[in-house]
Amino acid sequence: AKQNGRNTYAFYTESITQQADQRFRLSNQLSKAIERCELELYYQPQIDMVSKRIIGAEALIRWNHPDDGLLTPWAFIGIAEETGIIHEISKWVIQQGCQQLKKWQEAGHQLTLSINISPRDFRYDDFYDQVAKNIQSSGITANGLELELTENGLMETSGNIRELLQQLKSLGISLAVDDFGTGHSSIAYLKHFPVDKLKIDRSFVKDIDVDPADKMITETIIDMARNFNLKVVAEGVETLPQHDLLLELECDIAQGYLYSKPVPLNEFETLLEKNSLA
Ligand code: C2E
Ligand code: CA
Ligand code: CA
Ligand code: CA
Repeated sequence: AKQNGRNTYAFYTESITQQADQRFRLSNQLSKAIERCELELYYQPQIDMVSKRIIGAEALIRWNHPDDGLLTPWAFIGIAEETGIIHEISKWVIQQGCQQLKKWQEAGHQLTLSINISPRDFRYDDFYDQVAKNIQSSGITANGLELELTENGLMETSGNIRELLQQLKSLGISLAVDDFGTGHSSIAYLKHFPVDKLKIDRSFVKDIDVDPADKMITETIIDMARNFNLKVVAEGVETLPQHDLLLELECDIAQGYLYSKPVPLNEFETLLEKNSLA
């Protein structure tokens, strides 16, 4: 047994080293991924629950890794944040997002494009300038652009975030709180920050039709949003019973595999075309 324990120990040490190597490898490659055009935005439709039409999309980043294939953000956003590469990635996402939104606006689509922002982005004092510059150079109508921020991220960030958010809003864009309800500051958040929308975290939506507590939490968030004059998006809607219940609770917008998973641009545009015919 002792012998075994030793082997086990050796095994784990090796695997931790391997993990470190893997992270080192990924972070080196990630710093070149932008110029090599390996990053890609996928789009997941957001559905107006009453009209059932696509009224927006969330941009979700993917990495077409030369050896490992298509990587989801879980594989590399953490590394990007630790190494600071997130700064470059966010710049790229904002630029791509604005350019794409411009095309949709020119084609006559009324869409909100939501972009995920890392709390780390606020550490760089050129964040506001980045957003302002891209709105200008792309020529988008700014009210089609939305930034998604997680509540924990913001509360942990020092500096005058409230002022920064107000400046961002003065550009005409909107702000959404991502994963709402999972942080330790949800309600204080609404008091401090000028947000427009709450995204109810998937963990509440998952069992909404079977777990009374989850239903009650969701109902409470929706009521609260009403009182604060905010829109509500339900994340991770996978089944019709979940959809029906959210509609009954008067949730405004839904997003999830029930309607569509995140898809590459051309597939999203096919969905959009169907949408405008509907
Ligand atoms: P998130 O912002 O909470 O995004 C929602 C995640 O849930 C996405 O995972 C999406 O694919 C997934 N999802 C959507 N509908 C369903 C559903 O019905 N069921 C289930 N099980 N999952 C669903 P994804 O694309 O892997 O992104 C993971 C996270 O990575 C995002 O969580 C976001 O925090 C981060 N992320 C994605 N894109 C970016 C980006 O461009 N910049 C930054 N900073 N973070 C990003
Ligand atoms: Ca999000
Ligand atoms: Ca989310
Ligand atoms: Ca999340």
